[in-house]
Amino acid sequence: MSGEFEVAVIGGGLAGLSAAMTSARLGRSTVVLTGGLAGGQLVSIEHIDGVPGFPEGVPGYDLCPMAQEQCDAAGVSFLQDACGGLESECETWRIETASGAVLAGAVIIATGSSFVKLGVPGEEKFQGRGVSDCASCDGPLLRGKTAVVVGGGDSAMQEALALALHVDKVTMIVKSDALTGQIAYRNDVGTNGKIEVQTQKTVTEILGQDGVDAVRVKDETSGEETEIKAAAVFVFTGLEPNSGFLKNAASLNESRHILTDASMRTSAKGVFAAGTVRAASACRAAGVMGDGATAATAAHHYLATGLWSAQD
Ligand SMILES: Cc1cc2nc3c(=O)[nH]c(=O)nc-3n(C[C@H](O)[C@H](O)[C@H](O)COP(=O)(O)OP(=O)(O)OC[C@H]3O[C@@H](n4cnc5c(N)ncnc54)[C@H](O)[C@@H]3O)c2cc1C
Repeated sequence: MSGEFEVAVIGGGLAGLSAAMTSARLGRSTVVLTGGLAGGQLVSIEHIDGVPGFPEGVPGYDLCPMAQEQCDAAGVSFLQDACGGLESECETWRIETASGAVLAGAVIIATGSSFVKLGVPGEEKFQGRGVSDCASCDGPLLRGKTAVVVGGGDSAMQEALALALHVDKVTMIVKSDALTGQIAYRNDVGTNGKIEVQTQKTVTEILGQDGVDAVRVKDETSGEETEIKAAAVFVFTGLEPNSGFLKNAASLNESRHILTDASMRTSAKGVFAAGTVRAASACRAAGVMGDGATAATAAHHYLATGLWSAQD
């Protein structure tokens, strides 16, 4: 048995850390199951934009440890285990992990999202040998080389800009007919002499011997296929919620995001959700931190009153 707490937070990204810190500061015994390194998606991001208080941006590897330190100072317990399943036992929730069960009166699910795979030949084979989703980790190793970024949204543009600090050239392969996402990133990409954007194209294969040498790209309008030389491929074509472990414990929408009300309550009594794993998430750092604080406050209220419906 790994312990019993008033509040268990599943997921150690910014949503989970914000929830845990708020919960502990409200006086609740609180544990976070991080499922690995705390900090989530942002921990490796070179330059996080749009976080109030950091007008020049902030590296994820600075911000996330600061959030963890605030949790430590508030008295939060950390477990590196991942949650394998969630079951209700009377008024208590039982969280299964590889090293035993955690029991909690209220659970906040903040398991975030994972990158969608391209599903093309070569992707699995070259994972970690040229196929990556971390520009700040791999960019410095690619000096003097060329890279391909797949995708045209915020994450793809942000990572292409981070890569352009290191590599000779970045080619962005975009399925739609234009970049999407924030205008600020589109402007920066448009004026960056190292970044070329190829629209209405898809990657059909990643080629190489010991590592990535090139990608095969299909023109979606003509059907013509060409090869682009690249030492690395960064895939940012979408995210899917990490909600599989829930099975039927709480209601999901068709994209498998957890449905919540404005207080982050799910369909399961005593279970809340915060961050990008929930439907209608803002999918930005400031938004997920707000979700976490809201969920923890609602969990505190629930534990104090036992009341659950939206009118309570
Ligand atoms: C490349 C990129 C750049 C971005 N840049 C910015 C930016 O500049 N500004 C901004 O505001 N937003 C940015 N975002 C968006 C931001 O990262 C997300 O909105 C935010 O990090 C989501 O936080 P989260 O806590 O909901 O999820 P995540 O950060 O995904 O964290 C979820 C955590 O849950 C853990 N987990 C998963 N499954 C389990 C399990 N079963 N048990 C236990 N733990 C589990 C994971 O290991 C992870 O640590 C960016 C996103 C990407 C992908």
